[in-house]
Amino acid sequence: MNTQEINEIKELLSTPKNIVIVPHKNPDGDAIGSTLALSHYLTALGHQTSVISPNEYPGFLKWIPGEDTIIKYNESTSTAKSKIENAEIIFTLDFNHLSRIGDMEESLSKAEATFIMIDHHQQPDDYAKYTYSDTSMSSTCQMVYHFIEKLDDLKKISPEIATCIYVGIMTDTGSFRFRSTTSVTHRVVSDLIDRGADNTAIHENIYDTNTLSRLQLKGVALNNLKVLPEYKTAYISLSQKELDDHNFRKGDTEGFVNLGLSIEGIKFAVIFIENKGEGIIKISLRSKGDFSVNEVSRKHFEGGGHHNAAGGKSNLSLQDTIEKFISILPSYKNVLNP
Ligand code: 5GP
Ligand code: MN
Repeated sequence: MNTQEINEIKELLSTPKNIVIVPHKNPDGDAIGSTLALSHYLTALGHQTSVISPNEYPGFLKWIPGEDTIIKYNESTSTAKSKIENAEIIFTLDFNHLSRIGDMEESLSKAEATFIMIDHHQQPDDYAKYTYSDTSMSSTCQMVYHFIEKLDDLKKISPEIATCIYVGIMTDTGSFRFRSTTSVTHRVVSDLIDRGADNTAIHENIYDTNTLSRLQLKGVALNNLKVLPEYKTAYISLSQKELDDHNFRKGDTEGFVNLGLSIEGIKFAVIFIENKGEGIIKISLRSKGDFSVNEVSRKHFEGGGHHNAAGGKSNLSLQDTIEKFISILPSYKNVLNP
């Protein structure tokens, strides 16, 4: 995003506008944190803003300031559609292809608003008039901070905005440990604490929210964990029955894929989660070092994401998906275990 574009956006935001802000389907901490942070900021500038999520998000995000105002497209479709139709500006955050918003794509692709994308995933599409894309960024939340910085408005970062931004940086960096965490990320986080983000409370609100059944589901996941030393690969599967037997709620399997990656020597970890409602197997892929799970997911599992963290899906059965997965591993042997 160059200076001229920033100036055009400043001009656009200089008079009150109807603004809609959209995260991707099945939004995570970064998607919810960034959309709410931007919404608080734009509201403070005098705009009418609505965050419209394609669908529901995990319970551990249901305390973030402003979260109770989020409109869910799949539940309040007519309200959402009219807000989208009336929007003058639509911000799309934490995704870069309209297929990432499910059924909401239909409404958004018809909208006449000016689109602004803020996102850190690879291979951005070009649907937006203004595209702020940076794949080196830790999180979209960090980019919202830099966006406000580019608008010379850091002074407007309230404790609520600081909290929202902190959530997404913390969750997308695995609590500041992934390679995308830079010294700049730490400087941003330090400033957020100075501006009122309560780092200990945020960590507790997100991570200390286990239920007994969720912990037991993690036990099942660990029990199902398989290691393929020849490919430095580990994978986990969870069937719909295993989820049902443990009172599964959205977000309960968050982070499970990293269990495989925590085994010494493992470079590639995957989790396959059966979703009978949607008729798919949801897949999360993680890697360490130079092995690109973004490429694996794009090529074999209709997905994408980042170099070391990606997602995708399969329409095969759980067993057939795992067999397909095992069958593609030999083609990556040279990279995984040279
Ligand atoms: P997760 O495995 O936690 O669902 O997602 C890991 C990363 O991949 C996130 O940045 C997420 O936005 C992205 N991602 C997850 N699922 C998909 C998908 O189906 N398609 C694409 N393009 N990206 C995905
Ligand atoms: Mn993100």
